[in-house]
Amino acid sequence: MKTIGIIGGMSWESSKVYYDIINQKTKELLGGGHSCPSILYSVDFAEIEKLQHENNWKELDHRMAQAAVNLEKAGADLIVLATNTMHLCSEAICSSISIPFLHIAEATGKEMIKQDIRKAALLGTKFTMERDFYKRVLMDQFGIEVVVPDEKDRQSVHDIIYGELVQGVVRDASREKYTAIISKLEHAGAEGVILGCTEIPLLISDSDVEIPVFDTTRIHAEQAVEMALDKK
Ligand code: GLU
Repeated sequence: MKTIGIIGGMSWESSKVYYDIINQKTKELLGGGHSCPSILYSVDFAEIEKLQHENNWKELDHRMAQAAVNLEKAGADLIVLATNTMHLCSEAICSSISIPFLHIAEATGKEMIKQDIRKAALLGTKFTMERDFYKRVLMDQFGIEVVVPDEKDRQSVHDIIYGELVQGVVRDASREKYTAIISKLEHAGAEGVILGCTEIPLLISDSDVEIPVFDTTRIHAEQAVEMALDKK
């Protein structure tokens, strides 16, 4: 079995979920006492968040590429970046390593196609909802049309991520805001909703909404295991 290199800590609240899912999936597939060889490179999220909001993507590219290089040197056979937003740095990462990189939007697109979803709502940070690095993968590689909340709702989704979820705070009032926003997007034609931030699954699950939910943390972590077992 291959060793998964995880670039994490963005935030650690979701990295620990990746660790759980990766090992649960391995146990499910291999049984017995099996668990997944992995190496976690965990950053200080306060520094990352500051650089994001200063728009210093050059420094973030450098830091993410460096993390991936260190994981490769430490023996990782493949890399997952355990955050949607930081996939803004995926080109810098891929050009610095010689091992495979499992892109979170590609993993999600594959799962959506299996369920025949052609138009989806995307919730995530403003970086993920507003820039095209994520939507482009879904549209160009899978033909999936993406709808995002209006400006006011995008701000509210973003503020709940940084003000609550990355700090492990889960509020019923925020869940209600999210479900109301998802239901507006459902009325705009979304056939499914992408929880495109690795902390949103702490707040929203299948039972909270009518349409199919795509939990990017679970999808990404499970596909990483399949890749490590050479099943993909
Ligand atoms: N984990 C989040 C994501 O999936 C947000 C934190 C970050 O900015 O990396 O986008």
